[in-house]
Amino acid sequence: MAIDISKLVIATGNPKKLKEFERLLAPLGIEVFAQSAFNVPEAPEPHCTFVENALAKARNAARHTGLPSLADDSGICVHALGGNPGVNSAYYAGQHKSDADNNAKLIVDLRGVTDRSAHYTAVLALVLTENDPEPIIAEGRWYGEIIDAPRGIGGFGYDAYFLDVELGMTGAEMPLDQKGARSHRGQALAKLLAEMQQRFGAPNASRS
Ligand code: IMP
Repeated sequence: MAIDISKLVIATGNPKKLKEFERLLAPLGIEVFAQSAFNVPEAPEPHCTFVENALAKARNAARHTGLPSLADDSGICVHALGGNPGVNSAYYAGQHKSDADNNAKLIVDLRGVTDRSAHYTAVLALVLTENDPEPIIAEGRWYGEIIDAPRGIGGFGYDAYFLDVELGMTGAEMPLDQKGARSHRGQALAKLLAEMQQRFGAPNASRS
């Protein structure tokens, strides 16, 4: 039976993540839908690894929609903080999930710390059905440094404080396409797409 992955539910409640996926997948002829369009409730993320949380989110979306679902669990791992906030990045300053408060806490926690190195991690999980026994999993990492003063107005989350040292730009200073080419999410998606191509022979359009 042919597997149709030209329409994917993106298992996120974050409109900016959704936009990034839309931008990356549209050139491949893959249409994305927000899980909110199907009234999918947000999945709990109780696990201590990105991969377990990503799978939980993807299965939750597939359960509620009956459609192939792609989830991303991501976060920023700050080396001087032992990898924190890591899987708790969205809730670093509390359950209210505020980017501004999370960034403020990060800067306070790094006061006087000279090692500013950090990386973003993204783990993507694609399931065709709720109980798919062979999900496709892919991981990407983006290395950089945390700066004290924000730069740029794009992106989301910690982007204005995350400097891509090689480019000399923060995630918030990059146009979406450039962020997609550098980012943890973009790298993970490239791996996921390669595996999808191998398994399903699709998508067939080439990336621009
Ligand atoms: P999740 O939705 O549970 O995966 O939480 C991801 C959190 O990690 C976000 O709320 C952000 O705080 C952070 N994060 C992940 N990816 C990015 C990114 O590309 N830019 C900025 N922050 C990110």
